[in-house]
Order: sequence, then structure tokens, then C-alpha cells
Amino acid sequence: MKVKIGCLELGSNKKVIVQSMTNTDTKNIEETVAQIHRLERVGCELVRVSVPDKESALALKKIKEQITIPLVADIHFEAKLALLAIENGADKIRINPGNIRRETLLEIINLAKKFNVAIRIGVNAGSLKSLEHQSIEKKAELMVAKALEYISDFEAQDFKNLVVSLKSSDIRTSILAYELFASKSEYPLHLGITEAGSKFTGAIKSSVGLGILLYKGIGNTIRVSLSSDPIFEVFAAYNILQGLGLRQKYPEIISCPTCARTTIDVINLVEKVENLVYSCDWSGTKKNNLKVAVMGCVVNGPGEAKEADFGICGAGNKVAFFEDGKIIDTFDSPEVEKMLFERLSKLKK
Ligand code: SF4
Repeated sequence: MKVKIGCLELGSNKKVIVQSMTNTDTKNIEETVAQIHRLERVGCELVRVSVPDKESALALKKIKEQITIPLVADIHFEAKLALLAIENGADKIRINPGNIRRETLLEIINLAKKFNVAIRIGVNAGSLKSLEHQSIEKKAELMVAKALEYISDFEAQDFKNLVVSLKSSDIRTSILAYELFASKSEYPLHLGITEAGSKFTGAIKSSVGLGILLYKGIGNTIRVSLSSDPIFEVFAAYNILQGLGLRQKYPEIISCPTCARTTIDVINLVEKVENLVYSCDWSGTKKNNLKVAVMGCVVNGPGEAKEADFGICGAGNKVAFFEDGKIIDTFDSPEVEKMLFERLSKLKK
């Protein structure tokens, strides 16, 4: 099933699209656009903004004029805002049809048809009363039944430009729901573990949930929702996709956990390498599948360093520097750091 969201087409290939969401006040056009530009720079391909009021819906027009990626409007409670969002340039709207009166839903469908706007049907475990005190299997079943019921309402109006999400803050419920839905329907799926947590715990929960689904070929767009700066959602999403061999946007960083044998400051150095790697645009560079290894000693260091494009490894009171699998020499620590950063900087955009 192919679904168009602005310049993106879901379902036409296996590419999983990375989505994020702004946390600015949408009415503040300047701040929202600035945040979207930051997200675009790090690889966000689809961005959602909250539309809690009329001013925010009207702001979409100016926001849309200044960004290049498709814009998704998130509507809750005031369904009429979906109409305004569509008229003001949203490429997709996210609604929960269960909270919308039938006449308003029909109006939304007709306008979405007219403007060729996609609709995401968001079924959230937290908003379904029937799920209370049910087993996770039953919850998943009820969520999918609800999504299919909504889909048939849309199809009855000859509207198929749909994406579905089945979110729960419980990982197992989400996995079961998405799996069950994928076995029954071909509509594209937006994956997410809702209210996943902080930059650390949220990334782990999302990696487990989304990773299992993506590994099985389920999912067209993903969002790693984090209580953090949204650019970390994008970094986390690419790390999940990279770990599964689905997409690589950033160089892969290999580093050891350090131990009593460590002879260089691996922790500090990896942080610096990460900061450099995630601050650059690697797309289009000949080394976008670059691997950098930072290893503390000669136990596993040379092996990993040789496998990488650039590798450094503690060697007694010196540091060995590897490039393209070959050792260049051993140097003092600051010298190696400088060499590594110079090499990486030459490759970045
Ligand atoms: S590579 Fe060396 S320093 Fe790093 S964890 Fe392994 S043994 Fe320890």
C-alpha cells in the first residue's frame, strides 16, 4: 500500500523514514522553524508539530514555507483544528478518530482528499478505556481491532491515504499490536514506543521495541520519543537503523568499555569523537559508512582498530594509530587525537 506524505512515498521501497517532533510552542514560528532546521540538518525526514489551538494551526503556513521536509500536524481534542491544519499546509495530520464526531471526521476526510493530505490514525493504549485490566495479548488485539474499525470508516469514504500507529508505553503490547496489525493489513505503519523516557532509558526502550519490529520488516516510519532535545531522537533512530543494517547515516563508533588495562582516556576521547561525528553531515561523502575504533589497550584494540577506517589503541605509554587497517605508528596521546580529528574533519561536509 503506497501512501504519499508531501515529497515522501511510504510503501514504495523498504527505506524506513526517520521522524521527530518539535517541543517548541508552534505559535512561535521563529523558534519552531529553527528547531526544525536543526532536526533537518541531523537527518530528520518528517517532522510533527503539536497543534493545540487556532494560532498554531495558522502558524503552519509560515512554518511550511521555511522548511524542506514534510510537516505533520498533531491534533487532539479540537478536531476542527485538523481542517485548519490541512488548509494551512500540513502534509499529514495525526488524529485519533475515536475522539472525533462523525460529521467532523467526514469533513476532515473530504478536505484531506481535496488537499492530498495523508492521515495517521493513532491508536494509543492509554486512551482506550476497554484496555484496562486486560492481558497484553488482549490489549494488542483490541488496539488492532480498533485500528481496523477506523480504517473501514475511512475506506467507506474512499480514503486510503492512511498511516497507522499502535502505541503503548509497554514494549510488549506495542510489539504484539504492530505484529498483529502487519499480519492483517498492508497500510504503512508509524512505529513508536510512547512516553519512552529520558535520553538514556527512552533510547533503550525504543531500541528494544522498534528493533524487534524493524528486524521483522515491520515499520515504515519511526520516532524514538525522548524527554530530551529532539535531535537525540534522530541520532537514536539512526543508531537503531544502523544496528540492524537498514540504513547508515553516521559513521559507526566502536569503543571498549575500559578496564584496568586501559592506557588511554577512552571515555573522554569517545565523547569527543561522538560530538564530531554527530555534528557533521556525512551524506554524499565517500566515507558515509565510516567506522572509527577507540580502544584502551592491545588485548582487543589492534583487531578492532584494523577492522575500522580509523582506529586508535592504547599501547603502553603510547597510542597506536591505524588507518585503513594498517598501523601508521605509535604516538603520544595528544598527537593521535589531533591526527584523528584532522582525518575526520577532512571527510566531513
Ligand atoms: S580493549 Fe583492553 S582496555 Fe579495553 S576493555 Fe578490553 S582489555 Fe580493557
